[in-house]
Amino acid sequence: MKIYFEQIKSDGLKFDTNFDFEYIDAHIVVKNFTGEIYPIKKGYFLDGIVTFTIEDKCDRCRDLVEKEFSERIQLEIVRNKLEENSEEEIELKDEDLSFYNVLGDFIDVDEIIKEEVMLLKPMKWLCNEDCKGICPGCGVDLNYEDCKCSDTFIDPRLEILKKLKK
Ligand SMILES: [Zn+2]
Ligand SMILES: [Zn+2]
Repeated sequence: MKIYFEQIKSDGLKFDTNFDFEYIDAHIVVKNFTGEIYPIKKGYFLDGIVTFTIEDKCDRCRDLVEKEFSERIQLEIVRNKLEENSEEEIELKDEDLSFYNVLGDFIDVDEIIKEEVMLLKPMKWLCNEDCKGICPGCGVDLNYEDCKCSDTFIDPRLEILKKLKK
């Protein structure tokens, strides 16, 4: 979806858009964005809610987990004319806000949403905060089974102790 700057009136532009793009590598599917864009002093402000799903393997147990997200996106959009000095940095006052630099006549909403959603993926991906994961010794999924290590695995340090005792 493209929004041309001339479409944005002084009281802003509300929009609701459905997406069907997905990130093949990250297993993210973006579904919808509902929000508005309005002019501010430095440029424009985009504010809205994006919904997306992530399907990925749990970092601990490797089970496939799908979760749906609904997150707010807020960012400043600065329109830069091509002839402007590109090395000139625009200072941000509020550290919580990110900003997006646009060259040209329109804002590529899809592009912005794609980039923002990538940043929203949690660093840790767990089926459950309490996921016990897979035992590195015996390989059982500790969420479903008890560790079998004690039966088969003998710590080499204990072996040495046994020998010393003899
Ligand atoms: Zn898990
Ligand atoms: Zn084990």
